[in-house]
Amino acid sequence: MTAPRLDIDLGKIHHNTRALVDTLGKRGITVTGVTKANLGSVEIAQTLLQAGVQGLGDSRIENIQAMRGSGMSALMTLIRSPMISQVDQVVRYADISFNSELEVINRLSAVAKNTGRTHGIVLMVELGDLREGIMPIDVESTMRKVLQLPNIKVTGIGANLACRSGVVPEAKNMAELSLLANTLEATFDHKLATVSGGNSANLLWAFGNTKPGRINDLRLGESILLGCEPLHRKPVPGLHTNAITLVAEVIESKLKPSQPTGTLAQSAFGEQPVKTNKGNIVQSILAVGRQDIDHLGLTAPSGIEILDASSDHLIVSSPQRLAIGSEVTFQLDYSALLRAMTSPFVDKVFSQHLPIMAAAACG
Ligand SMILES: *Cc1c(COP(=O)(O)O)cnc(C)c1O
Repeated sequence: MTAPRLDIDLGKIHHNTRALVDTLGKRGITVTGVTKANLGSVEIAQTLLQAGVQGLGDSRIENIQAMRGSGMSALMTLIRSPMISQVDQVVRYADISFNSELEVINRLSAVAKNTGRTHGIVLMVELGDLREGIMPIDVESTMRKVLQLPNIKVTGIGANLACRSGVVPEAKNMAELSLLANTLEATFDHKLATVSGGNSANLLWAFGNTKPGRINDLRLGESILLGCEPLHRKPVPGLHTNAITLVAEVIESKLKPSQPTGTLAQSAFGEQPVKTNKGNIVQSILAVGRQDIDHLGLTAPSGIEILDASSDHLIVSSPQRLAIGSEVTFQLDYSALLRAMTSPFVDKVFSQHLPIMAAAACG
């Protein structure tokens, strides 16, 4: 097999998706399967759909276009505000987009009108994390204007927390979103089909004791793929944390000093070398690097320690020499996964094992 590669177990991804769809379904919440970490992989997208997600969400229109190109007709939502330079593709390939700027929605409306389509809009509301969203006080006036636009349908409102500032989704901010949904519906006599409460960081809230209120959809990526909730990076009970692993190949393994020799300046990535002297250590090089992974987001098997990484070399230490040509398997966090999925140098190998639960830590 080729290396480096991601071993992607579709059986485990199916299991994780189904478990979340079932648990949230009991609370009246559907799941939008987020595919942005998958670079439009049809294998993963179809697995999510087979496991019961009600639609797919991606932040890049190119990924949505790729999935459409493979013949997928599922409901697809662009979950980042469209660029004005891409409104044509957005109207053509996405059913719905998340929006927070009237100028963009105006352009979407014009394109939709010209092409005889109707484009769905979810108005994003700023609830404190300070990433995307209309300030709550301005949502009503924005919606009033959007409702006048031809070939545009306001299908819902949404919010995103915990991404930029780590603001926790909890009873208070979710109740604010619910209240806003009720107020807007009453003011405009317009049904909001979707109240999209957030991402994987909403799971602890959703599994907790507070009622979901009007929140009836969550957009889940990380928890499906990695089996973790991102607030504390703890495994979600019942989910696989090893559905996707990174495999890299050993190209050098030698006894070397733990300290560099010579006059020291900056390394390739501007970091100072570590000072601790451990005498001679077994140092091995794996053929994978910062182009392909975030080495800080990898977890090595026990006994192996990640020392550093340059563009194309991952440097590890271990008690014994590693055989040249042998492979080492790592767990990934979301950052490492994103980079590995989008690196053309990392092969993606899909399999479908019968799920056997293996409790493990999160990356
Ligand atoms: C990435 C993203 C998600 C999915 O987040 P996860 O933590 O991977 O579940 C949901 N909503 C938006 C707007 C996103 O950008």
